Amino acid sequence: ATPMAIMVGTGLGAANGILIKDAAALEEAVKLDVVVFDKTGTLTTGEPKVVQLTPAAGIDEADLLSTAAALEQGSEHHIAKAVLARAEGLPVKTARNFESFGGKGLKGEVDGRQVLSGNQMLLADNGVELGELAAESERLQGAGRTVVHIVRDGRVIGIIAVADAPRPTAKATIQRLQDLGVKVAMITGDNKGTASRVAAELGIDIVLAEVLPGEKAAKVKELQAQKHRVGFVGDGVNDAPALTQADVGFAIGAGTDVAIESADVVLMRSDPADVVKAIELSRATLRKMH
Ligand code: ADP
Ligand code: MG
Repeated sequence: ATPMAIMVGTGLGAANGILIKDAAALEEAVKLDVVVFDKTGTLTTGEPKVVQLTPAAGIDEADLLSTAAALEQGSEHHIAKAVLARAEGLPVKTARNFESFGGKGLKGEVDGRQVLSGNQMLLADNGVELGELAAESERLQGAGRTVVHIVRDGRVIGIIAVADAPRPTAKATIQRLQDLGVKVAMITGDNKGTASRVAAELGIDIVLAEVLPGEKAAKVKELQAQKHRVGFVGDGVNDAPALTQADVGFAIGAGTDVAIESADVVLMRSDPADVVKAIELSRATLRKMH
């Protein structure tokens, strides 16, 4: 594009809260044929709530919650905030020998007993069987919930289901991208069952589930190896490598500084619909030069 067209294009973007870092970003955005959205905080609000507590036989709710909270106090994850909000008012226990496993959950000792809080991968890594709560866990995941399993001394003492609502514009955004000939992917650390349900509700084309935080960039690379031009939309610290790897990285303005620094385009209004606007703007800008 001519320098003039680029100036007009980036200026129009800025006026709409879409900060495009350079001319190359605008030129790359025209060619995108896949956009990958990080699920949490991008397609969803990233402020999950606890929607169900199911203790195992002989365990009471307060015991389940305070045990979970003891571990979750040590985590920065949005799931931790949801569990702690629900455990408010209960006696606070502390965890010793706390460990965090990215994309899986937490481990530590509470009242001298070994406790885990996390997903099925964490359970499998520790040789724990789901037992009596297997069917309920499965059902909740099928309904799009993220299920946190609480394990004490090798036994699942209960599950906590967490729901993260889609952003109001998510579904329409996906439809509009598809209308523009762009395929939409969703990437998440969530379990496959949970992810497929959310994806089906939103009309997502490609579901990338159970992706560990360090694997997001590699997933983008795989799509590029299949000759796709890939946009990535994310908000978190662990999205930075994927934002850099993508042909165009879009950061949610309300996201972390690292994500914003790694991106080519910053969406100041934190609205996924602005990805569509950015692509339309790039197409209009480049059209002017011909
Ligand atoms: P996402 O960004 O898609 O939420 P993460 O990699 O942050 O993905 O987390 C993936 C999964 O790991 C979560 O869905 C959850 O099952 C588990 N997990 C991560 N952190 C915690 C935590 N603090 N407590 C319990 N489970 C966790
Ligand atoms: Mg995120």
